[in-house]
Amino acid sequence: MTSAVNPPRSGPRAITRTLRSVTDLLDAGLVPPTQAPELEQVARQYATAIPPAFASLIETPDDPIGRQVIPHPSECHTEAAEDPDPIGDDALSPVPGIVHRYADRALLKPLLVCPLYCRFCFRREHVGPGGGVLDDAALARALDWLRTHTDIHEVVMTGGDPLMLSPRRMRAIMTALEGMAHIHTIRIHSRVPVADPERLDAEMAEALDTTRSMWLVVHVNHARELTPQARAAIRRVQARAIPVLGQSVLLRGVNDTPEAMEDLLRAQVAARIRPYYLHQLDPAPGTARFHVPIREGQRLLAGLRGRVTGIAWPTYVLDIPGGHGKVPIAPDYLHTGPDGHLRVRAPDGTIHRLARERG
Ligand code: SF4
Repeated sequence: MTSAVNPPRSGPRAITRTLRSVTDLLDAGLVPPTQAPELEQVARQYATAIPPAFASLIETPDDPIGRQVIPHPSECHTEAAEDPDPIGDDALSPVPGIVHRYADRALLKPLLVCPLYCRFCFRREHVGPGGGVLDDAALARALDWLRTHTDIHEVVMTGGDPLMLSPRRMRAIMTALEGMAHIHTIRIHSRVPVADPERLDAEMAEALDTTRSMWLVVHVNHARELTPQARAAIRRVQARAIPVLGQSVLLRGVNDTPEAMEDLLRAQVAARIRPYYLHQLDPAPGTARFHVPIREGQRLLAGLRGRVTGIAWPTYVLDIPGGHGKVPIAPDYLHTGPDGHLRVRAPDGTIHRLARERG
């Protein structure tokens, strides 16, 4: 699909360094000069980074890859329903770098830097090159909090992107967590394997190899992101018996068609990634162009039921605005009929009465 606003690039241009500024985007032919003033305004609010590996996948600026990372003038327009902290992280942070929402687990955010900056990010008000890294003292306080909260069994490392840490710093965190007997599980959420796969090198894979139950959750939104380089990076982790899960965001113009969603789910399974979550877009400021209504998302998934293998099936989830937690919002196949018996809808749309079940 070609945008009426952003013209196609005039032939492929080799991009050898991360694009970070409006000038970089103009030079790469990814935005038209007429948009420059508005994009400078966007740049004052939100970070931009497009690493070469990801930039090389962009065929036209408004294609499913370009849309995710190229700034757009609409980002300066905030709608009434949008919120700078849409899932209520800030109120649940007992010390910098920790978010505690659920009884048995906590988020550890060691840095707010990412390999790229997604234009739909729910933490867009916080992430960026200026967002920084927890310094040694702040990290020590965050780890102390985990050490003293023995009801926490799982640490979810997020950010920013934890794989932007150096392997040395990652190993230091792993060593600290291994010293806490109550921490059984460590989960790392990352965009690095698809955005900048070389960064997930042998040294980093080794740093992730811990005595705890380690899980890597790769954020991937389109099948084309799973390049041979990305799959090789993922294999470096899988080779250490670390299971890899996938999480995606349902995004207009990226994966909101049956074909795109089917390709995305199949590509993950082909890379031995178990699709875990499909997120409903959080209402972060300036992200309306990516919004897909929940009912449309449910119809999209219902249309794939029966066509795509069950191991490719993610849980469609909504983070309830205001920090009330995450809930599944999958298509509902059951309803109660007028006779009080349950009815179930089959993948082909036919309705069947369950004789032995009452509603
Ligand atoms: S990588 Fe994650 S935290 Fe970073 S900009 Fe994208 S969605 Fe936000």
